[in-house]
Amino acid sequence: MRKKVIAGNWKMNKVLSEANGFVEEVVIKVPKSDNVEAIVCAPFPYLASLVEKSKGSDVKISAQNMHFEDNGAFTGEVSPVMLKDIGVTHVVLGHSERREYFAETDETVNKKTHAAFNHGLTPIVCVGETLEQREANETMNHVGDQVKNALEGLSNEQVAETIIAYEPIWAIGTGKTASSEDANEVCSHIRNVVKEVSTVETAEKVVIQYGGSVKPANIEELLTQSDIDGALVGGASLEAESFLQLVEAGT
Ligand code: PGA
Repeated sequence: MRKKVIAGNWKMNKVLSEANGFVEEVVIKVPKSDNVEAIVCAPFPYLASLVEKSKGSDVKISAQNMHFEDNGAFTGEVSPVMLKDIGVTHVVLGHSERREYFAETDETVNKKTHAAFNHGLTPIVCVGETLEQREANETMNHVGDQVKNALEGLSNEQVAETIIAYEPIWAIGTGKTASSEDANEVCSHIRNVVKEVSTVETAEKVVIQYGGSVKPANIEELLTQSDIDGALVGGASLEAESFLQLVEAGT
């Protein structure tokens, strides 16, 4: 049985006091369950503080991006070594906003995925199609290629530990969720692609999240689907109460 993984992606939101207050509340109220994992993906300046506040709890702290190099002349960047050093456990890679606004490519996502594993961080790799690609029936090929490229060169053990987030771009922040059946169809396809590039056992272990306008009102139906093992949530993860409801749905 795969765990459900609920990750709240705050994106570029909150000031420090709001970030701290959120995690203080969530560590107290988070449901105790072996079936679900709760992850908060916060902006860089808050990570060290949030790791402190979440110590001893079941709440994990994730970055939203990182560089693939360990250190060096990369002004403005943050490395996997730095994230690991302060106690961050996860990192979101290749979010569609990073791909669109910051020239993130399948190649950089693959390098970052390797870098994450080299430093003991769990990557949450985002894939997903545009509306044009969906309408042109290119979803399966496009998403399949993104998955293959991201996982290129990883060991089966590493593939098994990768979290893949399927986020159709047209559903992000738009209020339009893919129907749970449509979302599941793509998530099943992703699992088949993982099977092709690794083994059946590996593919059975991979956690595949859905993301795109997930909220307390639609998460339960999404989580009943055979290949959806959790959610990567933006807007509805900004309030502690709503985030807690989403985690509760995974128990
Ligand atoms: P949303 O964002 O839940 O606000 O649609 C999801 C994401 O971009 O991860």
